[in-house]
Amino acid sequence: KGRYMVFEPSMQHAASERREMEVELDKAMREGQFLLHYQPIVDLRSGYLLGVEALIRWKHPERGMIAPADFIPTAEETGQIVPLGRWVLAQACREVKVWQARLPEGRQVRVSVNVSATQLSKSDICADVGRALEISGIDPGCLVIELTETALMHNSDSVLATLIELKKLGVRIAIDNFGTGYSSLAYLHRFPIDILKIDRSFVERLGGVDGGEDFARAIITLGGTLDLEVVAEGIELENQQRGLIELGCVAGQGFYYARPCLLHELEYSVHMARRRT
Ligand code: C2E
Ligand code: MG
Repeated sequence: KGRYMVFEPSMQHAASERREMEVELDKAMREGQFLLHYQPIVDLRSGYLLGVEALIRWKHPERGMIAPADFIPTAEETGQIVPLGRWVLAQACREVKVWQARLPEGRQVRVSVNVSATQLSKSDICADVGRALEISGIDPGCLVIELTETALMHNSDSVLATLIELKKLGVRIAIDNFGTGYSSLAYLHRFPIDILKIDRSFVERLGGVDGGEDFARAIITLGGTLDLEVVAEGIELENQQRGLIELGCVAGQGFYYARPCLLHELEYSVHMARRRT
């Protein structure tokens, strides 16, 4: 009333695409079209497997394997991320618990699960985590909840209460893609964080000539000072691995070590062999 708005046909197109995706996501959940891939997180020096990160995939009957970037944003907008995220938590705990039993000292192998800002604010994430732990029987210390900096910034009082509740369950909390959001020192002090994950963009710059290692070094030093574990993401090259080791980083993941795959495919990987020996 009393104003005008500009309409473009592309807006309608985007809205109807989103609606279509919403219907497809519902169907996919009903028909069990989702699965989890796992990427190893290894000790950078020895290649010893420390844990895995669970990454969702959509096996679409016509379109093949769909990456999370192509459906997670819609699932967040529609709220479908809540039941989907609940499934991811339960499935990851269940699969990893079974797998742990087959590994030497397997009880210590961790699983990291990504939890989005919407899940944190719009669902009872503590109840979902509690249920996943109980049903699977996995040791709570082996479950890592990965949150982004953006998730922590919204309504930080209630986020703080949720994180305290999660810590009471015994799980660990990691900040994903650290350094790309607000990176406020205040929340590192305020929230019960255990792990910082160095964003891929900082790892990419390692070994360059333009002082590209400064940020990675700063995050690793910060982790050491605050007594937090640091995990480097997106290691693709040997010189990145070397650079990280020189900076004192202990753990990492990336295509240099392994691409995400089904859990049982990891059984014969070199990282598992390192565990066995
Ligand atoms: P993320 O949590 O930062 O996960 C790491 C992403 O980087 C994964 O992409 C992984 O395949 C990719 N990656 C790993 N190593 C390398 C590397 O060496 N080079 C490059 N270029 N990429 C590498 P993916 O599986 O496509 O997932 C993308 C994002 O989708 C994740 O980013 C995460 O934010 C989100 N996501 C994935 N699974 C879930 C889920 O179950 N729930 C929620 N809420 N989000 C998820
Ligand atoms: Mg992650």
